[in-house]
Amino acid sequence: MTSVRVRFAPSPTGRLHVGGARTALFNYLFARRHQGKFLLRIEDTDRQRSSDENIEVILQGLKYLGLEWDEEPIYQYPRRQIHQQAAVKLLNKGEAYRCFCAPDDLAKERKELEKQGIFVYPGHCRNLSESEIASSLARGMEYAVRFKVEQGVVNYHDAVHGGISVDCGEIDDFIILRRDGSPTYQLSVVIDDIDMGITHVIRGDDHISNTPKQILLHQALGYNHPEFAHIPLILGTDKKRLSKRHGAVSVLEYQAEGILGEALFNYLALLGWSPGDDREVMTRDEIIEAFSLQDITPKSAVFDAEKLRWMNGSYISAMETEKLADKILRWREEYGADTCFSIPDRDYFLKTVDMAKARMWKLSDFFILHRYYYEDPAEYDEKGVKKHFAGENLPAYLYALRDEFESIDTFNAVSLEDIIRRRADEWGLTAAKLIHPLRLAVTGFAVSPGIFELLEVLGKDRVIHRLEKAAEYIKGMR
Ligand code: GLU
Repeated sequence: MTSVRVRFAPSPTGRLHVGGARTALFNYLFARRHQGKFLLRIEDTDRQRSSDENIEVILQGLKYLGLEWDEEPIYQYPRRQIHQQAAVKLLNKGEAYRCFCAPDDLAKERKELEKQGIFVYPGHCRNLSESEIASSLARGMEYAVRFKVEQGVVNYHDAVHGGISVDCGEIDDFIILRRDGSPTYQLSVVIDDIDMGITHVIRGDDHISNTPKQILLHQALGYNHPEFAHIPLILGTDKKRLSKRHGAVSVLEYQAEGILGEALFNYLALLGWSPGDDREVMTRDEIIEAFSLQDITPKSAVFDAEKLRWMNGSYISAMETEKLADKILRWREEYGADTCFSIPDRDYFLKTVDMAKARMWKLSDFFILHRYYYEDPAEYDEKGVKKHFAGENLPAYLYALRDEFESIDTFNAVSLEDIIRRRADEWGLTAAKLIHPLRLAVTGFAVSPGIFELLEVLGKDRVIHRLEKAAEYIKGMR
């Protein structure tokens, strides 16, 4: 096999969404699996809707996912003259023809024909004589260039869908150059795929109807067409086409939310592909190693933002604490500098990250679910208050614990557990009757990591201060 060259070819008319990112990822995985090249082509021919900002956001999205491209990106618009020359070549070879039909007339006619179930251009200009053409040109009539689709069948093998055959009778003599001389998508894509030496076109199912036309163009230009793999649509959990409502937002919004690029990479890889066993959380290298186009399912895939968050949580909890700490800091700098507490003490920070990582689903959770490591609780969980702050003597118990905590030199999980269990015994309580109120007092939440370790990490000063605050609060409730 000649070495693999694939491309991701976004139109910069919008952001990089989940669907586009998954297409880019499958191209990347295929290239890496076969030691090939992953190329980027910016299809910026729609001058009205393309923007530099969108290009920038797409490139950033790819970087966030770690999808490094191998050569300088190709921009399509500056190549339009090359595309035009190819159309002229086809025209000269008789594989294409000038169509002088006025668009308005054609639109009217199309409406009529569509009533009869006919959807192809009726071919008025297909067989114009040399002199008819010459006279139209002499009168300065505008024309489009149409590709001449001959009778026959287009057969090809799609790596996902298997054998596909399309009767050419269903294919329009499609336009390759518009009346203003601009090349159409079908033509530009084929010329660029040829010039970039693309061996495999891996793209969304929505392009499947373009493929026979593109194959005909390849043939007419004297080239073998690349292999094709059309990957399934992505649906929301309600089985409707993915939209903003389902979380089909720019992938950079996931970054802003605190989803790790590697978790999104892993999650997207499983949208329509699976390694053939029940592995889900896999490293980049494992995915590359296992990836094949044949294992992509032709059935549509379902995007479940909750599952992505679950997967992100498992990446976070498995990550080395130092590395995670750096990611949290970088995230804070980028997205949360104004809203998140600052982190002055590295040692304390590392301890808190180590405790928090089993209970984080997003990087941002550190600053929300785990803010009690840094700030006194501003309020207490409502249900928790009803359940755990109701005991008659609770303020007295909390003061007593405070006094004893204050008096010890070694403030660690073991000594604190001793004290709490001994005191519970003394007061005729189960330990839980002290542990739950303590948890609520120091975190504001009814659930937290193991309380003794938590108290140790928080340290004497914070714990004592919070016990006092909670005792005052409970007295105020009465
Ligand atoms: N620019 C096209 C798109 O964004 C992709 C074309 C292709 O992959 O052939 O849908």
